[in-house]
Amino acid sequence: MKIGILGGGQLGRMLLQAAANYTVETFVLENDALCPAAHLCHHFVLGDIRDYDTVYNFGKGLDAITIEIESVNVDALEQLQKEGIRVYPSPSAIRIIKNKIRQKEFYYHHQLPTSEYIITQNLADLEDHKSFLPAVHKVGEGGYDGKGVQVIKDETAMHSGFDAPSVLEKMVNIKKEIAVIVAMNDKGETAIYPPAEMVFDPILNLLDYQVSPAILPEKVLWKAEAIALKVVKELQSPGLFAVEMFVDDHDEVLVNETAPRVHNSGHHTIEANYSSQYDMLWRIMLQYPLGNTDPILPSAIVNILGAEGYSGNAKYEGLDDVLRMENVFVHLYGKEHTKPGRKMGHVTIMSKDYQDLTHKANKIKYMLRVIA
Ligand code: ADP
Repeated sequence: MKIGILGGGQLGRMLLQAAANYTVETFVLENDALCPAAHLCHHFVLGDIRDYDTVYNFGKGLDAITIEIESVNVDALEQLQKEGIRVYPSPSAIRIIKNKIRQKEFYYHHQLPTSEYIITQNLADLEDHKSFLPAVHKVGEGGYDGKGVQVIKDETAMHSGFDAPSVLEKMVNIKKEIAVIVAMNDKGETAIYPPAEMVFDPILNLLDYQVSPAILPEKVLWKAEAIALKVVKELQSPGLFAVEMFVDDHDEVLVNETAPRVHNSGHHTIEANYSSQYDMLWRIMLQYPLGNTDPILPSAIVNILGAEGYSGNAKYEGLDDVLRMENVFVHLYGKEHTKPGRKMGHVTIMSKDYQDLTHKANKIKYMLRVIA
């Protein structure tokens, strides 16, 4: 079977690593010949995933196609789907998710719990909603990795909002941030991973540290699972989805956003779950039975980010010490250049003891540094 991936970043790379277990001919489209996935696929095509003709021509000879990022040309995927190429997730799901306004309205219309919101067209519009503060302003399209999100605590911060169609969301009193990965195949059968719990770096706004399965009261767990499952069923699309949710101070569960693809919150599943998120997506695309999502052991993920003050050819300080640690797995994404905050890799830690996970995660965060 011939299967294509739009995007050749680290997620594409890990997806291709899992492809090695199956008989599949892989194709990657990406506009950087040195991207993390380039040398792991059978056929690398240089080109822009946002361009209609490029995506259409890339996809037309394939059996199926998937994405590792939402900023793709959805019109081309729609045309390919019409011509019988299977697309995971379906173009209609990408269209909803790609735009934060449409995504938020989707939750609202399907009675999926999410924070209250207002749509703003520009900065002048935002000024009219002072009474809605404190809030979080999210740009409709083009935001990524925290760059399209602005916290607006009070009137004095209003100028930092977006002068483009955006969502203004009520600030949630977040107790926990969790993510639940849900898989759905062509027949509509689903599999659900245990939730992961995230801690964010308040400065870089990137996933900093994560533990899975999250420690949650049973009722919160049930709510989170039911909501994540409903999101995917209402999207009516096969594929793999990461549903990010907030648990607030009243133990209510609210959907934050959904990624319609393999996700950073699922890196640990490579070692820590019987079927990884990457393996699961291949099973779906190759139309095999779904895998077992059970955890083998609890796990933590630490991101390896470029250290402040260093830009250039990456060097990994402390790597030997990390590799010596028990039940610790290092994944480097093969990026030649580092810059402050760039995602260069991740480390997965496994242990039956949560305290051991936290201890090792913190130790690794300080031990391992990406310098130039
Ligand atoms: P991105 O798509 O860039 O990851 P998110 O929508 O996930 O952006 O927002 C990034 C972070 O901002 C969240 O992980 C959360 O910590 C915070 N955040 C987002 N929405 C809200 C909200 N309504 N209330 C409080 N904090 C929020």
